[in-house]
Amino acid sequence: MRKFSTGTEAALELRPDHPLYCFRPGILKADAREFMSLFPGDTAYAVKTNGEPMVLSHLVEAGVKIFDVASPGEFAAVREASPDAEMLYMHPVKAQSDIRLALETYGIRVMSLDHEDEIAKVLRIVRALDLDPGSITIYVRLQTKAHATYELSKKFGAAPGHAVELVQRLDRIGFKVGLCFHVGSQVEEAESYESALRSADWVRNRAGVKLAGLDVGGGFPATYGEDPARKQKPMPSLEELMSRLRSDIKEWEFDEMPLTAEPGRVIVARAFSLIVRVMLRKGRRLYINDGIWASLSDSWTGKITLPARFIPDPARKIRNGDPKKVVPFRVCGATCDSVDILSRPFWLPETIDTGDWIEIGHIGAYSLSLRTRFNGFYPDDFVEVSTPFEGEGEPESYASLETMGD
Ligand SMILES: *Cc1c(COP(=O)(O)O)cnc(C)c1O
Repeated sequence: MRKFSTGTEAALELRPDHPLYCFRPGILKADAREFMSLFPGDTAYAVKTNGEPMVLSHLVEAGVKIFDVASPGEFAAVREASPDAEMLYMHPVKAQSDIRLALETYGIRVMSLDHEDEIAKVLRIVRALDLDPGSITIYVRLQTKAHATYELSKKFGAAPGHAVELVQRLDRIGFKVGLCFHVGSQVEEAESYESALRSADWVRNRAGVKLAGLDVGGGFPATYGEDPARKQKPMPSLEELMSRLRSDIKEWEFDEMPLTAEPGRVIVARAFSLIVRVMLRKGRRLYINDGIWASLSDSWTGKITLPARFIPDPARKIRNGDPKKVVPFRVCGATCDSVDILSRPFWLPETIDTGDWIEIGHIGAYSLSLRTRFNGFYPDDFVEVSTPFEGEGEPESYASLETMGD
């Protein structure tokens, strides 16, 4: 992989015509170590956030030993990066053949579920393989209500009363039993974890079973850009959120048992930026070479303010407009699909034009992992960059949260 000091340097030297990912392994490792130092338990990286081999192997180098996985593809990717990493199979709804593969081939001994029929599925395979249920830890996934940018409890999780029954049933069979939850992605308030801890405490007290552990899931917020047009509630910093979480864990007396977290976004967001090129400017519309079917689906949802930096093509000698004036542009993606238009504008200098580049920062989470081959476009070019995205100075541009009238 070619190495550059900054994204701008890479753009000016390579003049990329296709999207170019700038990978920052130093940032990835620093952010992983930072999380591990703040969380009072085990850190299991959530592979779905970004499962690129380069990410997994650098995380292993940074000291990450546990991975949260959901599918055979993720089992294999983690094994490839580390022969002895531990895997937690935290998908509550699993294919029988995948449960067998996890237990038999990958030696996975930690799983989660939220329904009695899933217990029956797991138990059938445990019996068939003649495993001791006492060698397996099963986390019952609790339903939670949280203030997160992406609220996820609608899909998975047992209501508290139901969770009590599941815990007791698993315990009777002889499994080790834990409780887990996932409050959503990019949580906006520290209280989200507290209310989940409160339900975990309720379930523990009713179940009367000694718990093997508590897994607080992911959701820890990454830093993104700021939209000056929007009066946003400031996001809690990771330090603040963690110090709240640590004291809530003590208060609800979960500090005596093994704890696990499954961070994704907070670890990998800053590790990548993406350099896109303006293929065509048409008035206030920019046609770029990436889009919602490639790296920008998280941006398309319009819930995250991505920071962006304008990299003008020095070959363009004549420009219109005021370079200091930042105005909104409608951004159209690379495919011929008419929904491939970002739902929120990018604010960029008025002078931007065909052939210029935009470096979009903090795009490591849920971007590469959501690429499709739709229409034959599949961005897959990488360079290594040493300076953090914001290290080049405050970026002038950003993807807004506000909608734009045509
Ligand atoms: C997606 C997911 C995570 C990671 O979430 P982030 O918001 O990226 O931290 C963790 N745990 C589970 C069960 C998940 O589904």
